[in-house]
Amino acid sequence: MIQLEHQFVTDFHRALATPIWVASCTDFVSSRISSCPLYWSGDGVGIVLADYNEERHTGPLSTCKYSFSVKVAVGRPAPSELPSRELERANKISFLQGRPRMAGGLLGKNWFPEPLRSPSDCYAANLVYEPRNGTFVAKHEVIETEETVEHNNIKLAELQSMAKQITNALTAEQFAALQCPWCGSAVDANFHSSGRFFGLSCTNKACSACSICHESVDPPSWWRTKIGGWLDG
Ligand SMILES: [Zn+2]
Repeated sequence: MIQLEHQFVTDFHRALATPIWVASCTDFVSSRISSCPLYWSGDGVGIVLADYNEERHTGPLSTCKYSFSVKVAVGRPAPSELPSRELERANKISFLQGRPRMAGGLLGKNWFPEPLRSPSDCYAANLVYEPRNGTFVAKHEVIETEETVEHNNIKLAELQSMAKQITNALTAEQFAALQCPWCGSAVDANFHSSGRFFGLSCTNKACSACSICHESVDPPSWWRTKIGGWLDG
């Protein structure tokens, strides 16, 4: 079960947060967490905040007053219990294979109360409340667990090893055959016009995997076809 605290500032949000509203918000967040196979538990504690906290944002025509942010520290078995649950852990890791890179790095973990200041498993999202039917929609969900962090670190190391191959003069054909470690899509390179620096990124926009600013002492012959993008800014 999720316990959700709210810290609302405006009169509008305080009036909105009736016990029924808070229970409905908590049920929605609980259902999002329970339906995600990457978590170990449906238990957690969290906080819900309004995204717009000035009275001028709470007028009758305002829609932004229904925009909220939620952060939850989600329960996890003690490390001593994990060896007996190796299969469960393997299932979680295999669930991640071949999927786009998951957004990671929750900012502001100090939102959590002291004992949970550094939770290993978190859920964060923007919630939009629909007052006509009393429902919520979740946007920009971030799922971060020890397994997703470990998986992302391994895949990032693979991407960085591709960057090393490029500095070792990979041919254009070999480069074209590279695949994003997360989702298997083609990988693109962006060289600085000096040829000395480059970044790698996944061509699948939904994936957003990238590894930036590698130094190329001796760039491969095809680097001039890949000049541009953010590196030249
Ligand atoms: Zn990708």
